[in-house]
Amino acid sequence: MMRDGFGRRIDYLRLSVTDRCNLRCVYCLPEAAARFAPGSDLLSDDEIVTLAGAFARLGVAKIRITGGEPLVRPGLPALVRRLRALPGIEDLSLSTNGVLLSGLAAELKAAGLSRVNVSLDTLDDQRFAKIARFGSLGSVLAGVEAAVEAGLAPVKLNVVVARGMNDDEVGAFAALTDDKPLHVRFIELMPMGETGFFTPERRVPLGEMMAAAGPLEPSAAPLGHGPARYYRRPGAAGTVGFISALSCGFCDACNRVRLSASGTLIACLDGEDGVDLRTPLRAGAGQDELMTLIREGVRAKPESHRMIARAGAAEANPRYMCSIGG
Ligand code: SAM
Repeated sequence: MMRDGFGRRIDYLRLSVTDRCNLRCVYCLPEAAARFAPGSDLLSDDEIVTLAGAFARLGVAKIRITGGEPLVRPGLPALVRRLRALPGIEDLSLSTNGVLLSGLAAELKAAGLSRVNVSLDTLDDQRFAKIARFGSLGSVLAGVEAAVEAGLAPVKLNVVVARGMNDDEVGAFAALTDDKPLHVRFIELMPMGETGFFTPERRVPLGEMMAAAGPLEPSAAPLGHGPARYYRRPGAAGTVGFISALSCGFCDACNRVRLSASGTLIACLDGEDGVDLRTPLRAGAGQDELMTLIREGVRAKPESHRMIARAGAAEANPRYMCSIGG
């Protein structure tokens, strides 16, 4: 079992399998000139499995595959199968924008994927084109349906809320949970990436989101809860959750670290530094050496993120969320 320098147990790895994305959401990536790592820097399937195996031997039991957009990585189902087979991995989930999900959901389920989170910020076609700049709302909704049908449950929808972008849709998203066993999570906009999108005015505080999603009563969390707080609309089939890095900190209970698509261990979502695992891996490091490096990286995890200070100074973390995996 791994603990960081503040005694937090780390048993959850967010594993980015690509930094590329087929969308360019306004708050996440610039439309042109996104800085992606050279292809030769990206980990191969074998390298990902070797590193994930080292994390698993150190007590990581849950892996979430993320990106970039993980579904643009060729051969993802085969990689899922290999990760699922790692001793100690009990839960394997995926975060996706959903655009390519309808064609892959059944295959991913058969390969051993447990569940999916789909990111979707609007229920309006034209607005989707403005926010995501590529893809289509119809393809994402088809992906959500395919995930439910394939049994990739619980299916969670992640909605980043920003003033003037979609803050008028919180009620409509929350209402989706009334009849369907969907779990809608509203995510407070974070100062990440040099998109110039984050401003303090664009942030919609937790209280305002909760009022718009209500009426709400406290609820148990669906499987795999992390930093979200969960509620239920009276009589609803699904739940409504809130992830608010700025309004109420979640660092005390943080149980996760991240591995970037180019093999850097990033101990905090808001961290700017990381531990390069790719270079030693490619130089022939064995599991023991990799495990030592991982332990050191985890021990150096900061006590909390610095997003509140960043937001106050209107300064974003220079890393794109796409390079960290969210
Ligand atoms: N492509 C996958 C997806 O769409 O879920 C995984 C990667 S994406 C970077 C992970 C999550 O980060 C998405 O839900 C996205 O909306 C969220 N995200 C990106 N930039 C953000 C920001 N500045 N503030 C809050 N959430 C952000």
